Amino acid sequence: MKKEPKLFLVSAPSGAGKSSLIDAVLASASQSDLALELSISYTTRSPRKGESNGSQYYFISKKNFLDKKNSHFFLEDAEVHGNLYGTSVEFVESKLNAGVNLILEIDVQGFRQINDLDINYESIFILPPSISSLEKRIKARGDDDVEAINLRLKNAKDELSFATEYQHVIVNDSFEVAAGQLLSIISQETPLNNKNTEEVKQFLSQLLSY
Ligand code: 5GP
Repeated sequence: MKKEPKLFLVSAPSGAGKSSLIDAVLASASQSDLALELSISYTTRSPRKGESNGSQYYFISKKNFLDKKNSHFFLEDAEVHGNLYGTSVEFVESKLNAGVNLILEIDVQGFRQINDLDINYESIFILPPSISSLEKRIKARGDDDVEAINLRLKNAKDELSFATEYQHVIVNDSFEVAAGQLLSIISQETPLNNKNTEEVKQFLSQLLSY
Protein backbone atom coordinates (compact mmCIF):
# COMPACT_ATOMS: atom_id res chain seq x y z
CA MET A 1 0.00 0.00 0.00
CA LYS A 2 1.26 3.48 -0.84
CA LYS A 3 2.20 5.58 2.20
CA GLU A 4 0.47 8.90 2.78
CA PRO A 5 2.86 11.81 2.25
CA LYS A 6 3.99 13.36 5.50
CA LEU A 7 5.53 16.46 6.98
CA PHE A 8 8.91 15.95 8.63
CA LEU A 9 9.52 18.69 11.16
CA VAL A 10 13.24 19.11 11.72
CA SER A 11 14.57 21.41 14.43
CA ALA A 12 18.02 22.03 15.82
CA PRO A 13 19.92 24.84 17.44
CA SER A 14 21.99 27.00 15.09
CA GLY A 15 25.27 25.31 14.32
CA ALA A 16 24.09 21.71 14.87
CA GLY A 17 24.58 21.00 11.18
CA LYS A 18 20.88 20.63 10.35
CA SER A 19 21.01 22.17 6.86
CA SER A 20 23.91 19.97 5.70
CA LEU A 21 22.13 16.86 6.96
CA ILE A 22 18.93 17.87 5.20
CA ASP A 23 20.87 18.57 1.98
CA ALA A 24 22.41 15.08 2.16
CA VAL A 25 19.02 13.46 2.69
CA LEU A 26 17.45 15.44 -0.18
CA ALA A 27 20.33 14.34 -2.43
CA SER A 28 19.82 10.67 -1.46
CA ALA A 29 16.07 10.96 -2.00
CA SER A 30 16.59 12.40 -5.48
CA GLN A 31 18.53 9.21 -6.36
CA SER A 32 15.65 7.03 -5.18
CA ASP A 33 11.90 6.91 -5.72
CA LEU A 34 11.25 8.81 -2.49
CA ALA A 35 9.28 11.98 -3.31
CA LEU A 36 10.82 14.46 -0.89
CA GLU A 37 11.25 18.22 -0.97
CA LEU A 38 12.15 21.04 1.38
CA SER A 39 9.45 23.53 2.28
CA ILE A 40 10.59 27.01 1.27
CA SER A 41 9.68 29.40 4.08
CA TYR A 42 9.13 33.13 4.04
CA THR A 43 11.42 35.33 6.10
CA THR A 44 12.15 38.96 6.87
CA ARG A 45 15.87 38.14 7.34
CA SER A 46 18.26 39.44 4.68
CA PRO A 47 19.72 36.87 2.28
CA ARG A 48 23.20 35.57 3.17
CA LYS A 49 25.94 35.19 0.62
CA GLY A 50 24.91 32.55 -1.90
CA GLU A 51 21.22 32.63 -0.98
CA SER A 52 18.63 33.66 -3.56
CA ASN A 53 14.94 34.36 -3.46
CA GLY A 54 12.88 31.18 -3.76
CA SER A 55 15.82 28.81 -3.25
CA GLN A 56 16.42 28.81 0.51
CA TYR A 57 13.67 31.27 1.45
CA TYR A 58 11.31 33.83 0.00
CA PHE A 59 12.80 37.05 1.35
CA ILE A 60 10.08 39.60 2.07
CA SER A 61 9.63 42.85 3.99
CA LYS A 62 8.23 42.95 7.50
CA LYS A 63 5.10 44.70 6.23
CA ASN A 64 4.53 42.05 3.58
CA PHE A 65 5.08 39.31 6.19
CA LEU A 66 2.60 40.83 8.63
CA ASP A 67 0.00 41.30 5.86
CA LYS A 68 0.38 37.63 4.95
CA LYS A 69 0.13 36.60 8.58
CA ASN A 70 -3.07 38.62 9.01
CA SER A 71 -4.59 36.93 5.97
CA HIS A 72 -3.79 33.46 7.42
CA PHE A 73 -1.23 32.72 4.75
CA PHE A 74 1.00 30.84 7.23
CA LEU A 75 0.57 27.36 8.66
CA GLU A 76 2.91 28.46 11.44
CA ASP A 77 5.16 31.42 12.00
CA ALA A 78 7.64 32.59 14.58
CA GLU A 79 10.16 35.23 15.46
CA VAL A 80 13.59 33.62 15.60
CA HIS A 81 16.82 35.50 16.39
CA GLY A 82 14.99 38.79 15.77
CA ASN A 83 13.60 37.87 12.32
CA LEU A 84 10.20 36.57 11.25
CA TYR A 85 9.81 33.16 9.59
CA GLY A 86 6.70 31.40 8.31
CA THR A 87 5.55 28.31 6.40
CA SER A 88 3.03 28.81 3.61
CA VAL A 89 -0.20 26.81 3.95
CA GLU A 90 -0.62 26.75 0.20
CA PHE A 91 2.92 25.44 -0.42
CA VAL A 92 2.44 22.60 2.06
CA GLU A 93 -1.03 21.67 0.83
CA SER A 94 -0.07 21.62 -2.83
CA LYS A 95 2.97 19.38 -2.18
CA LEU A 96 1.09 16.94 0.04
CA ASN A 97 -1.76 16.77 -2.50
CA ALA A 98 0.83 15.97 -5.17
CA GLY A 99 2.11 13.06 -3.02
CA VAL A 100 5.34 14.78 -2.02
CA ASN A 101 6.79 14.39 1.48
CA LEU A 102 8.04 17.68 2.86
CA ILE A 103 10.80 18.62 5.26
CA LEU A 104 10.00 21.67 7.33
CA GLU A 105 13.11 23.22 8.85
CA ILE A 106 11.45 25.08 11.67
CA ASP A 107 12.17 26.21 15.19
CA VAL A 108 10.60 24.92 18.40
CA GLN A 109 7.81 27.54 18.38
CA GLY A 110 6.76 26.46 14.87
CA PHE A 111 6.88 22.79 15.89
CA ARG A 112 4.54 23.48 18.79
CA GLN A 113 2.05 25.29 16.54
CA ILE A 114 1.94 22.38 14.09
CA ASN A 115 1.67 19.95 16.98
CA ASP A 116 -1.63 21.66 17.88
CA LEU A 117 -3.05 21.06 14.37
CA ASP A 118 -4.56 17.88 12.98
CA ILE A 119 -1.66 17.08 10.66
CA ASN A 120 0.23 13.88 9.94
CA TYR A 121 3.83 14.60 10.90
CA GLU A 122 7.04 13.13 12.27
CA SER A 123 9.28 15.33 14.43
CA ILE A 124 13.05 15.15 14.63
CA PHE A 125 15.45 17.15 16.80
CA ILE A 126 19.13 17.27 15.89
CA LEU A 127 21.66 17.64 18.70
CA PRO A 128 25.22 18.85 18.28
CA PRO A 129 27.98 16.56 19.61
CA SER A 130 29.02 19.29 22.08
CA ILE A 131 28.43 22.94 22.97
CA SER A 132 31.92 23.88 21.81
CA SER A 133 31.21 22.40 18.36
CA LEU A 134 28.10 24.58 18.16
CA GLU A 135 30.12 27.63 19.04
CA LYS A 136 32.75 26.77 16.46
CA ARG A 137 30.23 26.22 13.65
CA ILE A 138 28.27 29.39 14.36
CA LYS A 139 31.48 31.45 14.35
CA ALA A 140 32.99 29.70 11.33
CA ARG A 141 29.97 30.56 9.23
CA GLY A 142 31.20 34.14 9.37
CA ASP A 143 28.01 35.56 7.98
CA ASP A 144 26.58 37.10 11.13
CA ASP A 145 27.94 39.99 13.21
CA VAL A 146 29.15 39.47 16.80
CA GLU A 147 25.82 40.46 18.31
CA ALA A 148 23.93 38.04 16.03
CA ILE A 149 26.42 35.26 16.84
CA ASN A 150 25.97 35.75 20.59
CA LEU A 151 22.18 35.78 20.24
CA ARG A 152 22.28 32.56 18.19
CA LEU A 153 24.51 30.92 20.79
CA LYS A 154 22.27 31.89 23.68
CA ASN A 155 19.15 30.74 21.80
CA ALA A 156 20.91 27.50 20.84
CA LYS A 157 21.47 26.59 24.47
CA ASP A 158 17.83 27.44 25.33
CA GLU A 159 16.54 25.36 22.40
CA LEU A 160 18.39 22.21 23.44
CA SER A 161 16.06 21.73 26.38
CA PHE A 162 13.13 21.17 23.99
CA ALA A 163 14.68 18.10 22.34
CA THR A 164 12.62 15.64 24.39
CA GLU A 165 9.35 17.04 22.99
CA TYR A 166 10.26 15.56 19.60
CA GLN A 167 9.56 11.98 18.52
CA HIS A 168 13.13 11.36 17.34
CA VAL A 169 16.50 12.71 18.47
CA ILE A 170 19.63 12.49 16.34
CA VAL A 171 23.11 13.34 17.60
CA ASN A 172 25.15 14.83 14.76
CA ASP A 173 28.49 13.41 15.85
CA SER A 174 29.34 11.38 12.78
CA PHE A 175 27.80 13.15 9.78
CA GLU A 176 27.32 9.91 7.81
CA VAL A 177 25.62 8.13 10.70
CA ALA A 178 23.35 11.11 11.44
CA ALA A 179 22.42 11.52 7.76
CA GLY A 180 21.64 7.78 7.59
CA GLN A 181 19.41 8.04 10.66
CA LEU A 182 17.56 11.04 9.24
CA LEU A 183 17.04 9.24 5.94
CA SER A 184 15.74 6.10 7.63
CA ILE A 185 13.17 8.12 9.60
CA ILE A 186 12.08 10.02 6.50
CA SER A 187 11.89 6.98 4.27
CA GLN A 188 9.86 5.43 7.09
CA GLU A 189 11.86 2.23 7.01
CA THR A 190 13.25 1.84 10.51
CA PRO A 191 11.73 4.15 13.09
CA LEU A 192 14.55 5.49 15.27
CA ASN A 193 12.48 6.96 18.08
CA ASN A 194 15.45 6.81 20.43
CA LYS A 195 14.77 9.86 22.56
CA ASN A 196 14.13 7.84 25.65
CA THR A 197 17.21 5.72 25.55
CA GLU A 198 19.52 6.24 28.51
CA GLU A 199 22.31 7.20 26.17
CA VAL A 200 20.38 10.12 24.66
CA LYS A 201 19.03 11.24 28.04
CA GLN A 202 22.50 11.24 29.56
CA PHE A 203 23.98 13.03 26.59
CA LEU A 204 21.31 15.71 26.73
CA SER A 205 21.75 16.40 30.42
CA GLN A 206 25.51 16.62 29.83
CA LEU A 207 24.95 19.22 27.08
CA LEU A 208 22.48 21.18 29.22
CA SER A 209 24.81 21.34 32.21
CA TYR A 210 27.60 22.86 30.17
P1 5GP B 1 18.38 30.78 9.51
O1 5GP B 1 18.17 32.26 9.58
O2 5GP B 1 19.69 30.38 10.10
O3 5GP B 1 18.17 30.26 8.12
O4 5GP B 1 17.25 30.10 10.40
C1 5GP B 1 17.11 30.46 11.73
C2 5GP B 1 16.08 29.61 12.42
O5 5GP B 1 14.79 29.83 11.87
C3 5GP B 1 16.33 28.11 12.31
O6 5GP B 1 16.13 27.54 13.60
C4 5GP B 1 15.26 27.64 11.38
O7 5GP B 1 14.87 26.32 11.63
C5 5GP B 1 14.13 28.59 11.70
N1 5GP B 1 13.18 28.68 10.61
C6 5GP B 1 13.42 28.73 9.29
N2 5GP B 1 12.27 28.77 8.60
C7 5GP B 1 11.28 28.73 9.51
C8 5GP B 1 9.85 28.72 9.42
O8 5GP B 1 9.25 28.78 8.36
N3 5GP B 1 9.16 28.67 10.60
C9 5GP B 1 9.79 28.62 11.81
N4 5GP B 1 9.01 28.57 12.89
N5 5GP B 1 11.11 28.63 11.93
C10 5GP B 1 11.85 28.67 10.79
